[in-house]
Order: sequence, then structure tokens, then C-alpha cells
Amino acid sequence: MAQASAASGPTDRHALQAQYRAFMEEHVYPNEERLSREDDDADELMVELRARAKKAGLWAPHLPPEAGGTGQGFLTYAHLNEQIGRVVWAQLVFNCQAPDAGNGEILHQFGSDEQKRRWLTPLVEGEARSFFSMTEPDVSGADPTGLRTTAELVGDEWVINGRKWFSTGAEGAAFGIVMAVTDREAPPHQRMSQIVVPADAPGIAIEAVPILGHRGRGWSTHCEVRYDDVRVPKANLLGARGEGFRIAQKRLGPGRIHHVMRWLGQMQRAFELMCSRALEREAFGGPLADKQTVQNWVADSAAEIHACRLMTYDAARRVDEGSEARVEISMLKFYAAAALSNVLDRAVQVHGGLGLTDRSPLGQMWAMARGAHIYDGPDEVHRMVVSRRILKAFAAGERWPGA
Ligand SMILES: Cc1cc2nc3c(=O)[nH]c(=O)nc-3n(C[C@H](O)[C@H](O)[C@H](O)COP(=O)(O)OP(=O)(O)OC[C@H]3O[C@@H](n4cnc5c(N)ncnc54)[C@H](O)[C@@H]3O)c2cc1C
Repeated sequence: MAQASAASGPTDRHALQAQYRAFMEEHVYPNEERLSREDDDADELMVELRARAKKAGLWAPHLPPEAGGTGQGFLTYAHLNEQIGRVVWAQLVFNCQAPDAGNGEILHQFGSDEQKRRWLTPLVEGEARSFFSMTEPDVSGADPTGLRTTAELVGDEWVINGRKWFSTGAEGAAFGIVMAVTDREAPPHQRMSQIVVPADAPGIAIEAVPILGHRGRGWSTHCEVRYDDVRVPKANLLGARGEGFRIAQKRLGPGRIHHVMRWLGQMQRAFELMCSRALEREAFGGPLADKQTVQNWVADSAAEIHACRLMTYDAARRVDEGSEARVEISMLKFYAAAALSNVLDRAVQVHGGLGLTDRSPLGQMWAMARGAHIYDGPDEVHRMVVSRRILKAFAAGERWPGA
């Protein structure tokens, strides 16, 4: 495999995408079943595949070279991630997995030199994993102004107390970035800060919470994390005190596009499996592909995938141009979550019972897709953001610039 080349224009971008596709075909699809077992053998195999990807220069494509990655901007990453997203485990192979990707981005943007040396470098090198600890079981995650975990400055240390959950990948991680209330009396959006916390700090307890009957292992866990008088140095504050929301927004906006980029890979793969199966499986005197219901599923899925792809490229381009693209990203998030569910559900249906077994990747993809409507903001909240912003612009006599 040749070293990845710089991708400045569409030709380079497509050449780089072809390198990722070739790697997926040679090393990832043949090993998908083994990786899905999430056992010691899968862990060893993952170490081997990551070393190969790194050697091939197909590594950390979400981060720019000055942060240690091989990234060429959001639009290029959208193209690559559509390949990477086709297999759940591939993001780990290429070291651009959530939540490390988002954590790496905010450490790069807001971290001090010392924080970058201590936390970002091992992430980019693939020597450490991290978690992002914001959501709490006792209050609404959709409205994080009510979060209760506190961090009090006592001398030269932050003392953290609280209970989080859905801290993805916390099992086996080296550190987490924790969102905590640092100024109770401040206006809601200036009450919180983000603090880097080593996972082995005394007072931290991490426990995996199974989701849809699946416990996961290491990176694939979703954990409850308790912070009981956890002390970290004052210097572990990320960015300025009270900037927690602003940093979270910086992290979650691009992070939502990352998710949709990967979902495109999932949708496209499910779509291809659906078409192949519809053509080869016969029932009632002919292939499933001859039944109009199945033809409608093919047409509707093609249209939805195409719309999501164009919306993703548009949002990625806007981010590359320096926009926060709040409306476009929220619109994309809820629209693509629906498309993902629709396409996967149709693909499972066309496969009949096979679609639910572990002889097909569809069952696992379908189960994991349910979370897309919830994580990084539920659908309803994104609809609220879109409609509020558009209506506000209209009330002010303006138009939404995307119109
Ligand atoms: C797979 C997965 C991974 C995750 N990873 C992480 C992680 O790494 N770190 C982290 O901190 N969190 C993570 N989360 C948590 C996730 O971000 C929250 O679950 C999400 O923000 C919703 O918060 P909640 O679960 O408390 O739901 P709630 O806030 O209790 O909301 C419940 C429901 O209320 C409805 N609702 C809320 N607001 C409105 C509204 N304005 N209008 C209409 N209806 C509304 C929605 O239907 C919503 O689903 C993850 C979640 C999942 C499922």
C-alpha cells in the first residue's frame, strides 16, 4: 500500500478515497466477523490492523498535519469517512474513532502546550484512548444547562463531584474530558467548564452499562462514571473557566458531521446488500427485485442517501470556510438519522430472517442505528434549533441564508 498523498482537489480526494477503499477491502471486510467478537483475539487483531493503517499513512484523517494527523479538511474527510463508516470497527483501525476524534479536536484548538504534549500526542499516536463525560443520569442531557456535576477550585486543585453516564469508551481509556459546573451563580451558558481528568485518578469509578443487551468491551462500552472528590491540578482546565458550553459546541458541531459521514457509509453498504439480495432471492415466481414494494424501497433509499450525501458535503464545505453551520448541521443530523433508520430497516426486511442473524452485518448495524436519533442531541432538539433560527431570521425580516 502506497503512502497516503495530500488531497487538495477533487482528483487527489478521490485518489485518497480509493486508498482507503483498497485498505478496507484487503484488511477490514475480511476481518469484520473476528473484530465483532470483541475478545482477546479481536484486540490483538485491532493492534495489528492499526499498525498497518499507520504505516500506510491512512491515519487520523480528521486532524490537520499540525495536530499530528493526515487531515485535508472536512470535505475530504467526508469522502474518506464514507468508506471508513461502512464497518463499525474501521474508525478505530484508522484512529479517527468517536469520542477520541472530537476530544483530539478540542485539545488541538483549546489545549495548552503542556496539555497537548500530555494528552493530544498519545491520542494521535494511537497510544491512548479517551472519553467525553457530559451526560448525567439524573438530569436531561438534551438540555445540559441543568447538569449537576461540580468542580470546585481548592488551592491549586479542582475537586470534582458528580455522576455521569454514557461516557462512551471510558473502560480502558487513559483520560476523560469532564463537563462540570465551576460557577453556580453565572448565567447558564457560562456556568460550566471542561476539565481533563486522568482515568486512574483516585475517586473515579467506571462501570459499563449494557445497551440493547450489549455490554461492549473497551472502546465500545458506554459507561457510568462516578466522581467522588476527584482532585486534578488547576492546569487541567481546558480553555478558559466558564467556556465549557462554547467548547462543547465547537466539539459537537463537527462531531455531528463526523457521525453522518460514517452513517453514509453504513447506508450505502446496506443499500448495496439490499440490491444484491433483491436480485438473487426468488419468491412467488420471480426475484424480490420484481416486486413493486421492493422497488419502492430501492428508489426511496437511493433518494435519501443522495440527499444526505449532498447535505453532508454542503455542511462540510461551510465548516471548511469557517462557518459554524448551525442550521445545516442540525438539519443534517435529524434528517440523516431518519434516513439511516429507514435504509437499514428496509435492507433487513429484504433479507428476511437472515438480516437479523450474525451471518449478515445488517442486524448489528440496525441495532446501533437507533442511537443516532438520540446521541449528540435528540432529533426533536435539532428540529427546534432549525425552526427557531429560521423563524427568528424571518421575524427580523431576513431569510435563512441557505434558502
Ligand atoms: C450510543 C450513545 C452514545 C453516547 N455517548 C455519549 C458520550 O460519549 N458522552 C456523553 O456525555 N453523552 C453521550 N451520550 C448521551 C447523549 O448525548 C444523550 O443521551 C442525549 O443528549 C439525550 O439526553 P438524555 O438521554 O438525558 O435524554 P433527555 O434529555 O432526558 O431527553 C429524552 C427525550 O425527550 C425529548 N426531548 C428533549 N428535549 C425536547 C424538546 N426540546 N422538544 C421535544 N422533545 C424533547 C426527546 O425525544 C429526547 O429523546 C450517548 C448516547 C448514546 C445513545
